[in-house]
Amino acid sequence: MENLTPMMKQYLSIKKQYDDCILFFRLGDFYEMFFEDALKASKELEITLTQRDCGMAEKASMCGIPHHVSETYISRLVEKGYKVAICEQVEDPKFAKGIVQRDVIRVVTPGTITDQTVLDEKTNNYLVSIYLDDSGVGISYVDNSTGEMYTTEFLGELSENNMFLIDELGKILPSEIICNDKINNNTKLLKILEGTINPYINSYKESDIEKDNLASLVTEHFNGKSLDELEINNKIYSIIATSKLIDYLYKTQKSSLEHINNLSYYKPNNYMVLDINTRANLEIHETIIKRDRKGALIGLLDKTSTSMGGRLLKKWLEQPLINIKEIEKRNNVVEYFLNNIVIMDDIKTYLKQIYDIERLASKISNGNCNARDLLSLRNSISVLPDIKKLLKNLQNLELVNMSINLDSLDDIYSLLCKSISENPPITLKDGGIIKEGYDKDLDQVKEACSKGKEWLSTLEAREKEKTGIRNLKIGFNRVYGYYLEVTKSNISLVPDYFIRKQTLANSERYYTEELKNMEDKILGSEEKSLILEYEIFTRIRDEIKKHIDRIQTTSKIISQLDVLNAFAQVAYKLNFVKPSLNTKGVIEIIEGRHPVVENNIQNNLFIPNDTYLNTKDRMVQIITGPNMAGKSTYMRQVAIITLLAHIGSFVPASKANISIVDRIFTRIGAQDNLSQGESTFMVEMNEVSNIIKSATKDSLIILDEVGRGTSTYDGLSIAWAIVEHITTNIKAKTLFATHYHELTQLQNGNNNIKNLTIVAEESGEQIVFLRKIVEGSTNKSYGIEVAKLAGIDESVINRANEILSLIEGNHQININSKVKEEPKQLNLIDYKKDYYVDKILNLDIDNMTPKEALNILYSLKEGA
Ligand code: ADP
Repeated sequence: MENLTPMMKQYLSIKKQYDDCILFFRLGDFYEMFFEDALKASKELEITLTQRDCGMAEKASMCGIPHHVSETYISRLVEKGYKVAICEQVEDPKFAKGIVQRDVIRVVTPGTITDQTVLDEKTNNYLVSIYLDDSGVGISYVDNSTGEMYTTEFLGELSENNMFLIDELGKILPSEIICNDKINNNTKLLKILEGTINPYINSYKESDIEKDNLASLVTEHFNGKSLDELEINNKIYSIIATSKLIDYLYKTQKSSLEHINNLSYYKPNNYMVLDINTRANLEIHETIIKRDRKGALIGLLDKTSTSMGGRLLKKWLEQPLINIKEIEKRNNVVEYFLNNIVIMDDIKTYLKQIYDIERLASKISNGNCNARDLLSLRNSISVLPDIKKLLKNLQNLELVNMSINLDSLDDIYSLLCKSISENPPITLKDGGIIKEGYDKDLDQVKEACSKGKEWLSTLEAREKEKTGIRNLKIGFNRVYGYYLEVTKSNISLVPDYFIRKQTLANSERYYTEELKNMEDKILGSEEKSLILEYEIFTRIRDEIKKHIDRIQTTSKIISQLDVLNAFAQVAYKLNFVKPSLNTKGVIEIIEGRHPVVENNIQNNLFIPNDTYLNTKDRMVQIITGPNMAGKSTYMRQVAIITLLAHIGSFVPASKANISIVDRIFTRIGAQDNLSQGESTFMVEMNEVSNIIKSATKDSLIILDEVGRGTSTYDGLSIAWAIVEHITTNIKAKTLFATHYHELTQLQNGNNNIKNLTIVAEESGEQIVFLRKIVEGSTNKSYGIEVAKLAGIDESVINRANEILSLIEGNHQININSKVKEEPKQLNLIDYKKDYYVDKILNLDIDNMTPKEALNILYSLKEGA
């Protein structure tokens, strides 16, 4: 340490405080990185690694980035999951005594980044704070780029808290997490996070919580609002999580965070819950395999015109409503638009002119907006009066209320019209941002400057005349200032009051006393004008900053209008209808369609199907039918129509009456999770266990071929027991597709169960899928026919048919199907042979003692 250069000492003392970040250390026009940081950054950013003497025997690794292009490099590092601390010179080197003082002015992290070039315009970027212990969990989250902050808490046992946390995180999908170290023991949660969003995790020790300051940090940040007003009084988990979140924001952003001016407390059970698997299975936000947004439900629904609208649509899909009145407010607006197509189109035309004013407001608050941003704000505001006027006279209460509450921000508009020039540069220090006529002082300085320039051209003409040098020119460069340039051929004509300044290959540059004096004046006024312009700009920005909350409120109304307008366009284009809603547990859909599958099928060939579910005789549907018949599509379509009805959208059907449901659960397909060290069957059972624990009579459950990941007997038994449990204990509306046709026997002993099947016809050697769902069941899976369709070699297909007829000739399963009486049992007499063969094949002989082998033989014999 002793031998280190003073600069290195300073570097290391700052780095110590930010050891989890890559430190960008400002040296002149560069940000430099040293040691480990340099190794990481040079690799990630593909920039040259060099070395620098630091006073120690070994040189320090170093790499650097010019400060004016730093934003993109910082964003790239943050995108790759690093945190970057930006250390600036915080005093003017001219006045520094000894080494220039430096300090970190901002830490850019994955969850706090605001650079619009890396953020997805239609997705929020959340930083989440979690406080978890054995009796509760608090969650608070913020989007620093929009200013929204939310919190909630849940009180339960640790396992329940964990499940709650998993569901909430599955919805929020944060890019960064702050949490107490309890979460480190939660391997299941960590695995899910790693496998999905892989956020940056900052954990802190329990002892780091300053219990005394928790509440005051929160209330002070929200301008003295009490915990009561923030709706978190006595909600200790929410308070801890929020306080930790605010603390982290201050420590990283080092700004006053005016844009984060509201905390919304929400009760999770005010919304329908969709767990992470259901979101994935229903392909709400992205398709399962390609992970693409366009092919997902949101891709079809997203006809929004603004980025704020796009983000709100995503939120509505993540938090469907369960209050009929609230839902009806939304779909009444959609209905109004559909009845007034011209208004719907006019609104869209206005909305298209509105930029992301929500994120612009945050940029203004963070102090990192430029004049072009203010111009975008002005242009966006310019259409607000038209929207307000249009909505005011409509025959729809919601729209009229929107008009009343829409602040058209006229004062901000006129300020920006007067002040910001029409074509400003991106930079703020090179002038050209303030309009003439806005500020007298600036106008005067600019005039002096332009007069000076006029004077220069007169001087040029005069000296030309005097010296007879016809190509004499006045020029300027940053290093030498103004000069008179004479080409070599005319040197002999140069008078003696020309003083040489610079020699070039073909010319000489001179100045005169007169030129020098004027240069000071011109440059002085030019510099003054640039400083003034910057000052005026910051004044305007600070003025607008006072009205951030007004801009945010306007942006909220605009985004709602945008989503509802988008719903109407989708309904119009895709022929959706307004659903009725009920709380009686009835889901009735006439001619329902799966909107995404339908959209992918050409020539309107999608076959609609009806659905009727209730709490009595049609609570559970067992759906059998061939492979490829459309079972999954049918079940997903029921789930999607139900979901759409809960977000206020119209639905793809000719008529629908949808019961409010508290949760939709799905267990669909065999999503391999092998990378996370779990077998497909294990994953399936985990999901089913979750469903059984959390489902209620108001839930909708979709189960697709549960049990297929294990042997037929295991699978059938598990499927059987699950259906029984749901029917007798949970009583949730359930659709269960299966190839175990034995399950259809359950209908006989249970009034709540109905068998349905999707019909396929055999036509010669071919099968024709009719895609129509009807009552009844089938024991034909047509697996071999489908394999043939898929192009499997004919000899294999023939052999499969042979084997099938052998097996079908020999076996049948008898199941006592009466629910609730005796324990159900499979009669395995006819399966003895297979059973023994299975058992023996599954033995791990290499790892068995002879005694164990003998015991197994005995037990097999006993069972015979
Ligand atoms: P299953 O679950 O019975 O194996 P899927 O639901 O996966 O069958 O459907 C297979 C394919 O059949 C779908 O990808 C889709 O292209 C088509 N399909 C399904 N349902 C319909 C329908 N109602 N109308 C037209 N095509 C359909």
